[in-house]
Amino acid sequence: MKVDGSCHCGKITFEAEIDPDTVTICHCTDCQKLTGTAFRVSVPAISGTLQFLASTPKTYVKMADSGNERVQGFCADCGSPIYSTSPGPNPSRYGLRVGCLAQRDQLVPNQQVWLRSALSWLPDMQCGTSFDRESH
Ligand SMILES: [Zn+2]
Ligand SMILES: [Zn+2]
Repeated sequence: MKVDGSCHCGKITFEAEIDPDTVTICHCTDCQKLTGTAFRVSVPAISGTLQFLASTPKTYVKMADSGNERVQGFCADCGSPIYSTSPGPNPSRYGLRVGCLAQRDQLVPNQQVWLRSALSWLPDMQCGTSFDRESH
Protein backbone atom coordinates (compact mmCIF):
# COMPACT_ATOMS: atom_id res chain seq x y z
CA MET A 1 0.00 0.00 0.00
CA LYS A 2 1.32 3.41 -0.94
CA VAL A 3 1.30 6.07 1.77
CA ASP A 4 2.33 9.69 1.87
CA GLY A 5 3.09 11.86 4.81
CA SER A 6 4.21 15.22 6.06
CA CYS A 7 5.25 16.94 9.25
CA HIS A 8 2.99 19.51 10.89
CA CYS A 9 4.62 22.57 9.30
CA GLY A 10 4.86 20.92 5.87
CA LYS A 11 8.62 21.30 5.40
CA ILE A 12 9.09 17.51 5.33
CA THR A 13 7.04 15.47 2.85
CA PHE A 14 7.58 11.84 1.92
CA GLU A 15 6.14 8.75 0.24
CA ALA A 16 6.62 5.05 0.96
CA GLU A 17 5.13 1.60 0.50
CA ILE A 18 3.94 -0.23 3.61
CA ASP A 19 2.13 -3.43 4.56
CA PRO A 20 -1.01 -2.33 6.47
CA ASP A 21 -0.86 -5.56 8.53
CA THR A 22 2.36 -4.44 10.20
CA VAL A 23 1.13 -1.42 12.18
CA THR A 24 2.39 -1.56 15.77
CA ILE A 25 1.67 0.32 18.99
CA CYS A 26 4.68 0.76 21.25
CA HIS A 27 4.13 1.49 24.94
CA CYS A 28 7.81 1.75 25.86
CA THR A 29 8.85 4.68 28.04
CA ASP A 30 11.15 6.05 25.31
CA CYS A 31 8.22 6.27 22.90
CA GLN A 32 6.07 7.94 25.56
CA LYS A 33 8.71 10.58 26.10
CA LEU A 34 9.69 11.06 22.44
CA THR A 35 6.07 11.50 21.37
CA GLY A 36 4.99 13.48 24.44
CA THR A 37 1.93 11.26 24.69
CA ALA A 38 0.74 7.83 25.81
CA PHE A 39 2.16 5.54 23.12
CA ARG A 40 3.59 5.51 19.61
CA VAL A 41 2.02 3.99 16.48
CA SER A 42 4.43 3.08 13.69
CA VAL A 43 4.62 1.01 10.52
CA PRO A 44 7.77 -0.14 8.72
CA ALA A 45 8.38 1.21 5.23
CA ILE A 46 9.05 -1.59 2.78
CA SER A 47 12.79 -1.63 2.14
CA GLY A 48 13.95 0.94 -0.39
CA THR A 49 10.56 2.66 -0.82
CA LEU A 50 10.88 5.66 1.53
CA GLN A 51 11.49 8.86 -0.41
CA PHE A 52 11.73 12.36 0.96
CA LEU A 53 10.33 14.88 -1.51
CA ALA A 54 11.74 18.14 -0.18
CA SER A 55 13.81 18.58 2.99
CA THR A 56 15.11 15.63 4.98
CA PRO A 57 14.51 15.22 8.70
CA LYS A 58 16.98 16.13 11.42
CA THR A 59 18.14 13.12 13.41
CA TYR A 60 18.63 12.30 17.07
CA VAL A 61 20.28 9.07 18.22
CA LYS A 62 18.82 7.50 21.34
CA MET A 63 20.22 4.58 23.31
CA ALA A 64 17.62 1.84 23.89
CA ASP A 65 17.45 -0.23 27.10
CA SER A 66 18.96 -3.05 25.05
CA GLY A 67 22.04 -0.90 24.37
CA ASN A 68 21.08 -0.59 20.69
CA GLU A 69 21.19 2.84 19.16
CA ARG A 70 18.12 4.06 17.29
CA VAL A 71 18.11 7.04 14.97
CA GLN A 72 15.02 9.23 15.35
CA GLY A 73 14.14 11.43 12.36
CA PHE A 74 12.06 14.53 13.03
CA CYS A 75 11.31 17.92 11.52
CA ALA A 76 13.86 20.45 12.75
CA ASP A 77 11.30 23.25 12.51
CA CYS A 78 8.09 21.84 14.01
CA GLY A 79 9.42 18.76 15.86
CA SER A 80 7.01 16.22 14.32
CA PRO A 81 8.46 12.70 14.64
CA ILE A 82 8.87 11.13 11.17
CA TYR A 83 10.73 7.80 11.51
CA SER A 84 13.17 5.68 13.44
CA THR A 85 15.89 3.55 11.95
CA SER A 86 19.22 1.90 12.72
CA PRO A 87 22.46 3.90 12.65
CA GLY A 88 24.95 3.62 9.81
CA PRO A 89 24.79 4.24 6.06
CA ASN A 90 21.85 2.98 3.97
CA PRO A 91 19.64 1.52 6.70
CA SER A 92 17.17 -1.00 5.26
CA ARG A 93 14.33 -0.49 7.71
CA TYR A 94 12.52 2.71 8.59
CA GLY A 95 9.68 2.72 11.12
CA LEU A 96 7.31 5.46 9.98
CA ARG A 97 5.28 7.40 12.56
CA VAL A 98 1.68 6.74 11.61
CA GLY A 99 0.37 10.09 12.87
CA CYS A 100 2.26 11.86 10.05
CA LEU A 101 0.72 9.66 7.32
CA ALA A 102 -2.28 10.90 5.34
CA GLN A 103 -3.73 7.34 5.42
CA ARG A 104 -3.48 6.98 9.22
CA ASP A 105 -7.19 6.33 9.72
CA GLN A 106 -6.90 3.15 7.61
CA LEU A 107 -3.81 1.90 9.43
CA VAL A 108 -5.23 -0.15 12.29
CA PRO A 109 -2.59 -1.56 14.66
CA ASN A 110 -2.59 -5.34 14.97
CA GLN A 111 0.27 -5.67 17.42
CA GLN A 112 1.31 -3.88 20.58
CA VAL A 113 4.65 -4.12 22.33
CA TRP A 114 6.07 -3.12 25.73
CA LEU A 115 2.68 -3.65 27.35
CA ARG A 116 4.39 -3.80 30.74
CA SER A 117 4.90 -0.01 30.64
CA ALA A 118 1.48 0.82 29.11
CA LEU A 119 -0.35 3.57 30.98
CA SER A 120 -2.96 2.13 33.30
CA TRP A 121 -5.79 4.40 32.17
CA LEU A 122 -5.67 3.32 28.51
CA PRO A 123 -8.69 1.38 27.24
CA ASP A 124 -8.13 -2.12 25.85
CA MET A 125 -6.57 -1.50 22.42
CA GLN A 126 -7.98 -4.74 20.92
CA CYS A 127 -4.74 -5.49 19.08
CA GLY A 128 -4.28 -8.96 17.62
CA THR A 129 -1.05 -9.70 19.44
CA SER A 130 0.42 -8.17 22.57
CA PHE A 131 3.92 -8.50 23.94
CA ASP A 132 5.07 -7.56 27.42
CA ARG A 133 8.38 -6.39 25.98
CA GLU A 134 9.64 -6.42 22.41
CA SER A 135 8.01 -8.68 19.82
CA HIS A 136 11.21 -10.64 19.14
ZN1 LIG B 1 7.80 20.48 10.17
ZN1 LIG C 1 8.80 2.25 21.94
